[in-house]
Amino acid sequence: MAQIRIQNVRKDFGSFNAVKSSSFTIEDGEFFMLLGPSGCGKTTTLRMMAGLELPSSGEIFIDGEEVGMKPASQRDIAFVFQMFALYPHMNVGKNVSYPLLSQGMPKAEVKRKVGEVAEILGISDILSRPVGGLSGGDRQRVALGRAIVRDPKAFFMDEPLGALDAEFREHMSEELRALHDRMGATTVYVTHDQLEAMQMGDKIVVMNHGVVEQFGVPQDIYDWPATRFVAEFIGSPPMNFLEFHGMVGHGMTSVELSGCAFVIPEQIEGAHGDLTFGVRPEHVRLDDNASYKGRVTATEYLGTTQIVSFDTPNGPIKARIASHHNVKTGETIGLQFDARTITLFAADTGRALKSAANQGVLNND
Ligand code: ATP
Repeated sequence: MAQIRIQNVRKDFGSFNAVKSSSFTIEDGEFFMLLGPSGCGKTTTLRMMAGLELPSSGEIFIDGEEVGMKPASQRDIAFVFQMFALYPHMNVGKNVSYPLLSQGMPKAEVKRKVGEVAEILGISDILSRPVGGLSGGDRQRVALGRAIVRDPKAFFMDEPLGALDAEFREHMSEELRALHDRMGATTVYVTHDQLEAMQMGDKIVVMNHGVVEQFGVPQDIYDWPATRFVAEFIGSPPMNFLEFHGMVGHGMTSVELSGCAFVIPEQIEGAHGDLTFGVRPEHVRLDDNASYKGRVTATEYLGTTQIVSFDTPNGPIKARIASHHNVKTGETIGLQFDARTITLFAADTGRALKSAANQGVLNND
């Protein structure tokens, strides 16, 4: 069990700055996701926390102790890799017991621990099997067993389910999360899959180009994205963005989009000029009485819901609505947005303008 804190951590590879000054804290027992597109610096951040890469500057603390210069072997952590790196010449039991035997633990104690871990993972009946013929799921369980058996302070996982097909991946992600809940060990997990991060994580750090864009619990990140990048990266379809020119804040309660007034969140901070009005597809309401109109350009049937694409005076927009609504391509429909679900961004910086509602969750000041 461990609290992990990184403080102004930066990593350069030669003249390339892979991770810009980053700070966040992973609390003891959390399932913590490092999320972002390929090349954003999440693996490098994980490797620095694990001691596989030295930071160029900044500090890393595990349980309050500064470990930035300590190698991985002295940090009491375990790594789970994507490709289930198992020893092919050893059977399952030997793969799981290897870390303990190499530490010099007495054989009877090793047997007890391996039995315990095998029970947790449901692999007791395959301990004598060679790893060669195992299914993907069993290989993953053995790899996890080898990590768990040492009782490390924390687990570091780099896209551990990345090589699995979609159905099995979902099954394993549920299993991993359940395992974490049983053991309660701090887990840091790298993924580029926003859905996986939302489903599994207690907290998420969203990274982009080496920068921590936002850090928080999944619902806050979804409801109150700190930047346009986060609003676009999280959610499928992503948040809609309508560009407009105007003024907000200073006690104003609405903004005007192409002649139509929309109520905005209370106490939004002041800004004027080019602004962006953000609304998630499920928060776009079709309303015959609304004076703001969109022309339907496409519909996509998804079973219980459908995605309807519109052209509006401020740009394209998608709505997620119940599939029983009969909507036809080419028709013009009134659109309405609920003030509580709107995020406003400064167009030049892409940063969300703060309101009373999202005050506490933005992290990139
Ligand atoms: P991916 O999911 O593709 O691995 P990532 O977000 O984990 O992406 P990193 O692997 O952390 O990204 O890499 C961040 C950037 O640093 C990338 O541009 C990568 O090419 C670069 N990089 C990583 N390791 C090195 C290295 N040893 N030498 C030079 N550049 C590196």
